[in-house]
Amino acid sequence: MYILLMGPPGAGKGTQAANLVQKYNIPHISTGDMFRAAVKEGSELGKKAKACMDGGQLVPDEITIGIVRERLAKPDCAKGFILDGFPRTVEQADALDGILKELSISLTRAVDISVPSDVLVERATGRRICKKCGATYHIRFNPTKTEGVCDECGGETYQRADDSEATMKNRLSVYEAQTKPLIDYYKKAGLYSEIDGSQEMSKVFADITACLK
Ligand code: ADP
Ligand code: AMP
Repeated sequence: MYILLMGPPGAGKGTQAANLVQKYNIPHISTGDMFRAAVKEGSELGKKAKACMDGGQLVPDEITIGIVRERLAKPDCAKGFILDGFPRTVEQADALDGILKELSISLTRAVDISVPSDVLVERATGRRICKKCGATYHIRFNPTKTEGVCDECGGETYQRADDSEATMKNRLSVYEAQTKPLIDYYKKAGLYSEIDGSQEMSKVFADITACLK
């Protein structure tokens, strides 16, 4: 199962990817998570990525494509993967086609989790993430049992710096301008499925698994 999870920031890609990992036992590859890990390490890549992420802009294509090329070549991707947050530009999508060709892999489906923008702002600004295990919560839609403490591992939860209302506005306009054209890209490739992401999480998951059958 080689799945692309598409959709605007805050649509629920990471949430659904975690469910898909459980169901299909394949790795979740999130370029956002990879950049956040690099920022935490303080590597050169992390420094470059941080400047872009803090402003809600995309990390340059050549950097992003490079880290995905390296990651997809790892043995755990041979039997499947869930790509989340990549590609985000037509150049990245073209590069992905080339990488997959080299690896003799055909995408199973490009699943687009579609959510109206006013809902996205509320989802992103209320998002909380566990520092230790990365589990995702929402202060209103999926709160932790104890405020600030992860249900899974007891770690501390935090709010992403780019989940402010102001940065979210930039991220949404970047999505409209640079990422939305990928809807047509994957429609033309015959791989596109749109899912109504404004439904509750379990219904979104049921619709995703149905379109993968
Ligand atoms: P993305 O990875 O697309 O940026 P996330 O999966 O992190 O999005 O979800 C963004 C926020 O919205 C999180 O706080 C998550 O708990 C919440 N969320 C995800 N899916 C739903 C849903 N179907 N209904 C309500 N809240 C949701
Ligand atoms: P995400 O976790 O997917 O919301 O991504 C957080 C941030 O990481 C984005 O706002 C971008 O700055 C950067 N990023 C993640 N994926 C990509 C990508 N495919 N191309 C460029 N930048 C990305």
